[in-house]
Amino acid sequence: MYNNAITNYLQQHSFGSINLKAVLFDMDGVLFNSMPNHARAWNEAMKRYGFDLSYEEAYLHEGRTGAATINIVSQRERGKDATPEEIEEIYHTKTEIFNSYPKATRMEGSWELIQKIKGAGLTVMLVTGSGQHSLLERLNRNFPDTFRQELMVTAYDVKHGKPSPEPYLMALKKGGLQPNEAIVVENAPMGVKAGVAAGIFTVAVNTGPLPDKVLLDEGANLLFPSMPAFNNEWEQFYSSIRTERL
Ligand code: CA
Repeated sequence: MYNNAITNYLQQHSFGSINLKAVLFDMDGVLFNSMPNHARAWNEAMKRYGFDLSYEEAYLHEGRTGAATINIVSQRERGKDATPEEIEEIYHTKTEIFNSYPKATRMEGSWELIQKIKGAGLTVMLVTGSGQHSLLERLNRNFPDTFRQELMVTAYDVKHGKPSPEPYLMALKKGGLQPNEAIVVENAPMGVKAGVAAGIFTVAVNTGPLPDKVLLDEGANLLFPSMPAFNNEWEQFYSSIRTERL
């Protein structure tokens, strides 16, 4: 069932097989159901400053820096970048609104999937653009005995965030992995783009309001409509990975 997607990937990169050793997880929108809060906070904060950034559009920009997101809207509506002071103020407001919301919960299906992956003897790694200081503690609380600091890539590890391949290339380096020894799990267009650009088989999980096409157009090798759907298909998918050869 997944053989076509795998064969296409292998042909494209001239690999003989995917020798899977690690699964590289994005965090927001994949492990935690945090994107609705981010999108709502963006929409609300921009509105306070007279800008229009819809809930849906916020998903399109997921992974961009705050400054980049604000400037896209500022250019569109005023034909110029926001000043550094405006950026600081708007981003501060967005953060305040976000922090006033209840903490996002673990994404449904994610813990079940991770347990299967660990059970198969594979390494689980995190690759996020987030730089929250409490990140590891929160991960350990929600996903006990899963993530190791030395195998994590966060905002502090890279110069260029997604959609640059740098975060995923850094993950390969930290894990001592070749691109065909890992897969990426991403929910956002720019995250998918980063995984694909790093030469890694990239699974898109469409946990937000964007059309599938947006994720497929960035080169996603496979797409699932949710984390529970990916979890349900894991055995089939993993079995295809282990058997498919060029
Ligand atoms: Ca994400």
